[in-house]
Amino acid sequence: MQYIDGGWQQSDSPDVLNVMNPALDETIAQVPMASPDEVNQAVKAAKDAFEAWRELPITARVAYIYRMKQVFDSHVEEISRITTQNHGKIIDESRGETRRLAENIETACSIAYTLAKGERLDQIATGIDETLIKEPLGVFSIIGPFNFPSLAPFWFIPTALVTGCTLVVKPSEITPLPLQWCFKILEEVGLPDGVVNLVHGSKDVSQKLISHRDVQGVCFVGSTPAARQVYALAGEHGKRALCQAGAKNYVVINEDADLARAIPMLMSSFFGNTGQRCLSGSNLVAVGKIYESLKTQFTDAASKLRLGYGLDESVGLGPVVSRNSKNRILGYVEKGIQEGADLVLDGRSPEVQEYPNGYFLGCSVFDKVSPDMTIAKEEIFGPVASLMRVDSVQESVNMINSSTNYGNAACIFTKNGKDAREFRRSVDAGNVGINIGIAAPMAFFPFGGRRDSFYGTLHGQIDCIDFFTDKKIVIERW
Ligand code: NAD
Repeated sequence: MQYIDGGWQQSDSPDVLNVMNPALDETIAQVPMASPDEVNQAVKAAKDAFEAWRELPITARVAYIYRMKQVFDSHVEEISRITTQNHGKIIDESRGETRRLAENIETACSIAYTLAKGERLDQIATGIDETLIKEPLGVFSIIGPFNFPSLAPFWFIPTALVTGCTLVVKPSEITPLPLQWCFKILEEVGLPDGVVNLVHGSKDVSQKLISHRDVQGVCFVGSTPAARQVYALAGEHGKRALCQAGAKNYVVINEDADLARAIPMLMSSFFGNTGQRCLSGSNLVAVGKIYESLKTQFTDAASKLRLGYGLDESVGLGPVVSRNSKNRILGYVEKGIQEGADLVLDGRSPEVQEYPNGYFLGCSVFDKVSPDMTIAKEEIFGPVASLMRVDSVQESVNMINSSTNYGNAACIFTKNGKDAREFRRSVDAGNVGINIGIAAPMAFFPFGGRRDSFYGTLHGQIDCIDFFTDKKIVIERW
């Protein structure tokens, strides 16, 4: 079902996709690939709703968003369960995702008045005053990735709405159910018809949305190749674009790091969400002689993560999202072996007795990885870690800054303030963690990302106020 102009509609499209539960390898729903006509209907609904929505006093729009926060708070468990069923991540991670979603709603309320406010300077010349007004631009499209199916679109939705913009949102075709469920919940908020619309589909639907005459711009979250295409297409059609893209993140363990404290955080960084996070650790770099103990403790902890269906609270690692993803990740493990890395923990054929058909992969750990190997350079997006060794923090920074062109996140574990400071200042990444394994910015900060991990100027979360609005300058003489 698609949500267009305040109601659920069956699609006329003959093109449907099975939506899977990756732990069970079972079809749990089907989604249509929206026809061009349905995309037009959704954009028209958003366009028709725009004038009245922008004319509402900001206090009234904020009141809707406050209500949205209350409504979502009462549905955290439900959204989380659906996320686990469709994506595979363990239930605690789904709860974390849903809570972050709610934080984004709350932040939109709290920033609306201060950041949507304009500026004024009287008497810029004799008898002349100048004012800057921020005006909402109109209809925007939001295109989500599979790995944070409800949260990623909510980096943008609440902010767009408080500014007075209206939306057409397209979730990932692999994990469309959590966002579809969020739209069911949104009905309780009672937003005017057409303010938010949901269509399903893949690349073709995204492209139609981006190039549509009545759409002002796109917020995209997904892989780097797709982000580049989205950015180019938006440019060709003169649209605004904010594209959060792929990653290859390094985590550096300084010689003085407290390993007992770091290991649980490293498990979460490398294997949380089954490695399918844009902020996941992927390359693990030991500085100096901590290498051997890091290798032993990291591999040992990874070997103990219990695989299973994420709805079971005792499970530590869920399946990957699809059979295709599983095969792609296995391809990378093969490549690592062929290129000479040493597979010290082999997660390729785990036994998960109760769920024999699920897309499970245990943790794989490679030793003796060099930065020029494919597994060290490309985004694997699965539970695979590559261990490397350097002699100094500076050498690790040089490696991070030059071995890939991604710049999403980089983390260091250390007790040395000077090294941490040097790392923070010189590493070319948009999100930096110091004794933190997942450098995920809170909703009231922008979501970092640079180089091939981000295309655009204004980032997700708080920055979006400026993305969704334009500045009008008024110079007055009376
Ligand atoms: P994907 O690029 O395959 O798809 C993302 C979305 O774009 C989907 O809705 C898909 O239908 C659509 N799409 C695919 N190709 C397209 C194209 N050529 N033009 C227009 N739309 C297209 O990504 P995914 O596999 O769903 O998500 C995982 C990727 O997202 C990883 O690379 C991950 O690092 C990245 N990601 C980045 C961030 C971030 O903030 N930087 C956050 C989450 C995920």
